[in-house]
Amino acid sequence: MESIGVLMACPMNAYLEDELCKRFNLLRFWNFPDTTEFLKRNANSIRAVVGNAAAGADAKLIESLPDLEIVASFSVGLDKIDLAKCKEKGIRVTNTPDVLTDDVADLAIGLMLATLRRIPASDRYVRGGTWKKGDFKLTTRFSGKTVGIIGMGRIGTAIAKRAEAFDCPISYYSRSKKPGIKYTYYPSVVELASNCHILVVACTLTEETRHIVDRKVIDALGPNGFLINIGRGPHVDEPELVSALVEGRLAGAGLDVFENEPHVPEELFKLDNVVLLPHVGSGTVETRRVMADLVLGNLEAHFLGKPLLTPVV
Ligand code: NAP
Repeated sequence: MESIGVLMACPMNAYLEDELCKRFNLLRFWNFPDTTEFLKRNANSIRAVVGNAAAGADAKLIESLPDLEIVASFSVGLDKIDLAKCKEKGIRVTNTPDVLTDDVADLAIGLMLATLRRIPASDRYVRGGTWKKGDFKLTTRFSGKTVGIIGMGRIGTAIAKRAEAFDCPISYYSRSKKPGIKYTYYPSVVELASNCHILVVACTLTEETRHIVDRKVIDALGPNGFLINIGRGPHVDEPELVSALVEGRLAGAGLDVFENEPHVPEELFKLDNVVLLPHVGSGTVETRRVMADLVLGNLEAHFLGKPLLTPVV
């Protein structure tokens, strides 16, 4: 397989990069700023693309690779891949479901605790020497708060399971009510937001769910409500979120993802009621290793003519 051209869309994981380099003819896209020239020289040798949550395979890239057979994503979310174009051209697509679910759900709970209890602000208080001048102000209790989840999928379900251990009543919104799920279902995001303290975004990013959290939803959550986003940045209308936080129309937000990563609205840096993370939901050594093995396993299965491990298309 050493002669098979595999294009890595951006740097994502050193182990994955090393293993791809050992097993395939690895081409690192980021090493070639002149992409037109690079594609002119290499397009015909590339049979696979490896992408992630930051860079995948859009229609333009797919069209420019005549021998592309498979796009293997080092992520569960597929919003950076043109799935329709892949289907049309018979290109296979794989992702990394399940193996990252626990880490992302753990982080969602961490964000809820950190935001409501203001853990990072308390830490800054101690480090800055302010404790000597007086006690830190009171924060908001997490246990028992109603948690509303947008997207009761693998990650949404894992978040619900964890939040239940904190005696939090759970409600959710998905396109349809899930049979056999005991949590309260609301048929719209506004109704969900009106009836919870903490709204968690955990759905897939599609054209339908872009800005699923807009001004109406933020207003429904209200000045005592908190927003947690571990889905994708474009799920939330970011300028609306920033103004709601600055104007005190929302109690706080815990955000792992942003609309224009790695750029984060600077207005948020001044606020103690927000916790900002650099898209690290699945970012543990253990999980990233298993995700990398899944990408490698899918590519090898494909080129050996075996069934894919986690096919999407
Ligand atoms: P999943 O099992 O496929 O769940 C996705 C959920 O989204 C489903 O329950 C689906 O419910 C819901 N959904 C899809 N379209 C919807 C719509 N129009 N309105 C409302 N809900 C909709 O996926 P997962 O493994 O839980 O992952 C979910 C997402 O988390 C990924 O797509 C990814 O973007 C994000 N993620 C983020 C990180 C991070 O580092 N922060 C890491 C991993 C994943 P219905 O089909 O019933 O509508």
